Amino acid sequence: MDGATIGLDIGGTKIAAALVGADGTVGPVRRAPTPATRGPDAVVAAAVDLADRVRREAAEAPVACGVGTAGAVDATGRITHATDTLPGWPGTELRAVLAAALDLPVVVANDVQAMAAGEAWHGAAAEARDALVVAAGTGIGGAIVIGGEVIVGRHGFAGSVGHLPATRRLGRRCGCGATDHVEAYAAGPAIAAEYAARTGRAAAPPLEAVAAAAAAGDQVAVQVIDAAARVLGDGLAAAANLLDPEVVVLGGGVLGLGEPFVTAVGAALRAAALPGVDGLPVRTARLGAAAVLAGAALLARRAVAGAG
Ligand SMILES: [Zn+2]
Repeated sequence: MDGATIGLDIGGTKIAAALVGADGTVGPVRRAPTPATRGPDAVVAAAVDLADRVRREAAEAPVACGVGTAGAVDATGRITHATDTLPGWPGTELRAVLAAALDLPVVVANDVQAMAAGEAWHGAAAEARDALVVAAGTGIGGAIVIGGEVIVGRHGFAGSVGHLPATRRLGRRCGCGATDHVEAYAAGPAIAAEYAARTGRAAAPPLEAVAAAAAAGDQVAVQVIDAAARVLGDGLAAAANLLDPEVVVLGGGVLGLGEPFVTAVGAALRAAALPGVDGLPVRTARLGAAAVLAGAALLARRAVAGAG
């Protein structure tokens, strides 16, 4: 793979790395568990080990390393905020420590922003200049692409559609500590918890079970999925009215709820969007887990090219 870049994806439970070619081809993906409870130094060491492993497999020395990580990242590559899944992560000068350890140019981005770069480069938003990209999973992350560039924002929070006000107001706590944000209703755990509460289950079922129940005609499951999709679609309409993008790309584990969920999100978005904006296509992400690796590598490659 000529002039390849190392892509790294640092999540709360696993780290992934691969060589990414100039054409966006993602090579074999190496994975390791994230030693989150052992603190940020251990997480960085595990990421360096994995990146070195991938580098040793390269036919030619990689030119840079691009990183997508959980948490918000500012323009200097410093973690400004992270959830409890990575204790001590905020304040980590991730770009600087990785650049020193790998002796390579390093670019660090939030994982959803990296995913957006991947989808904008080779995925579902490939032909769009402006896109809104959303990853709905255990949380709801978002990213904005304008003119082919991912907008980071001063603290790395640009595109955080999960923390827009929700159109349901039941006083639900959001992952950020506020109440009644979109994430508090449309993230995977929120959907599973609502289904459990309404059916008298002690434990929240996996989302696949909720999807299967809905497909089998369980009206509670149908209503729970529809309510979550409406909150997400309303939030996306608010973001779309502000940004007027060409496409919305939806990814993340919540898409395991299947076509009825995606269709309901699109319907809610269209109902609440301005004339014209209501014609916005809603597409599902195309690159899967490889989007973060490909996108992070793209950001690093662009930075190296820009610096050269
Ligand atoms: Zn929030």
